[in-house]
Amino acid sequence: MNTEHRPEVLISSREIATTIDRLATEISRDYLGKEPLLLGILKGSFMFMADLIRRLDFQLEVDFVRLSSYGRGTESSGKIQVVQGLRTIVRDREVLVIEDIIDTGLTVAYLLEYLRKKRPASLRLCTLLDKPSRRRVPVPIDYLGTTIPDRFLVGYGLDYDERFRNLPDVCVLEDNE
Ligand code: 5GP
Repeated sequence: MNTEHRPEVLISSREIATTIDRLATEISRDYLGKEPLLLGILKGSFMFMADLIRRLDFQLEVDFVRLSSYGRGTESSGKIQVVQGLRTIVRDREVLVIEDIIDTGLTVAYLLEYLRKKRPASLRLCTLLDKPSRRRVPVPIDYLGTTIPDRFLVGYGLDYDERFRNLPDVCVLEDNE
């Protein structure tokens, strides 16, 4: 894939907004009065986190962890590393992990296991996008935005070699080969 390919809209910003409205309703119903910790996985989830929490009208806390899996390219290496760890105490907290996209499941499975050892009061997972066709380990998704086909996506926080994160829509890179 070369980066001269033009991104093509797969999920428009309007559709993303509708999906986030629904997720916010579901999350509000479950967490109202519980003051959860919303834990985003960097870098991809920053835009989703920002849009989601603006729709949550209750007390909550936000933190981020940075995990590396992909490196530079479109195939997951399968080797997960914590690049920037948690600054918040997780023990006895209601923790909701916020992910942009789940593909093989290796990244989020690793993080859930890492968090479980810290003994939160509860641990749930919200993802905007899910690519179930490529799953290598089972992942329990509590709040699911949209299921997508096996295409490499960019935009709305997602990158290809650090480009395209700023696109307002979720896009696929056109393949002209
Ligand atoms: P997994 O470990 O589930 O295979 O991969 C999860 C991570 O890989 C996501 O947090 C995201 O950073 C990256 N990823 C997975 N699929 C895509 C994709 O289609 N586009 C981009 N830009 N990143 C992806």
